[in-house]
Amino acid sequence: MPVLFRKRMLLPAVVVTAAAVVASPAGAGNALADAACFDRATQPYTSVVDSHLHYRPFGGKAIPFDEVNDYLRQSGVRYVNVFGIGQKLPADSDCTYYLNCPGTPVLPSIKNDIVNAESYVESKPADPHLTLSMTSFDIANPETIPDTLDMYDREYPGLFRWAGELNLIKGALLPNHHEPATFQDIDAWAPLMRELQARGIPATIHADLGTDAEPTKYLALFEHTLSRYPRNKIVWAHMGLSKELSTMDPAQHIAVVSRLLDRHPNLTLDLSWRVLEDQYFSKPGVRQQYADLLDAHPTRAIPGTDFVASRDKTYAVYKEELEVTSRINKALGDEAFRGIALGENYFRLLGLDATAPPVCE
Ligand SMILES: [Zn+2]
Repeated sequence: MPVLFRKRMLLPAVVVTAAAVVASPAGAGNALADAACFDRATQPYTSVVDSHLHYRPFGGKAIPFDEVNDYLRQSGVRYVNVFGIGQKLPADSDCTYYLNCPGTPVLPSIKNDIVNAESYVESKPADPHLTLSMTSFDIANPETIPDTLDMYDREYPGLFRWAGELNLIKGALLPNHHEPATFQDIDAWAPLMRELQARGIPATIHADLGTDAEPTKYLALFEHTLSRYPRNKIVWAHMGLSKELSTMDPAQHIAVVSRLLDRHPNLTLDLSWRVLEDQYFSKPGVRQQYADLLDAHPTRAIPGTDFVASRDKTYAVYKEELEVTSRINKALGDEAFRGIALGENYFRLLGLDATAPPVCE
């Protein structure tokens, strides 16, 4: 790599300027539409999109909606997916994180999506651009799905433009009565998947790849989903990685991911969660392997933090999670950088009328 590249890596994350995104939804910043290209040597490497942000915690108090949006503005994030939380702790529990209370059931609930939608309708911020997501489908009990979808359509017609994070199999939740979807359940999603496809709505699916003992234990479940619904826009949360899968050989993981990308053209990778950086990208030699994967598929990944907005956190935590999850951007070639960090892949996936600026030569 040339010297310029190394210089770039030393730059701190600072607030992205309006020039980072050419078209904004409210029309603000369009004065800069003809502005110069994005200069990676002087502008931030942190992503302008957060496609994976939980505005609601598993339980306990949340950071107020407007305060979360302030965090995004302050850190240069211009586009965000508003996730609820797929699995909520019961109202009578004082637990805020499911790992601290094994045995306490965490089950799908629509409450958080309703709170998010009401907050959105109340404050309608123009910046950042918000995309509400339907988080609460109980995909292990698909017979409940049509009623849930009806509710979204009845109460908030046209407002929800994303689905997920849907937990197909999340190993960390198994002690809290999480019921993984079965092959039969996946087949029974057909009515939902038909609707999502017709509406062009992407679905972020949390499908753990496996565990340290059995790294590809759950791969067949996710692959069945991809094969069964080839025309749906499916986004694979965390590329299947998790705290339970911290020691997989990166080359083996990359081989699985590459094969899925080649075989399933509507699959997009979700690079959210600092666990990816902490457990994989930051290890010696590993970052370049993943950068090579993304450079080989520059249109196939979107960024995110997986921040969970529980009240015990502050702006400093969000800022750090954005910086940590954006470190991989520094290792990318210009095409993948524009697709991922500058938002082009997200805009295309969602059909947004926005374009990322070209990266300066
Ligand atoms: Zn998440």
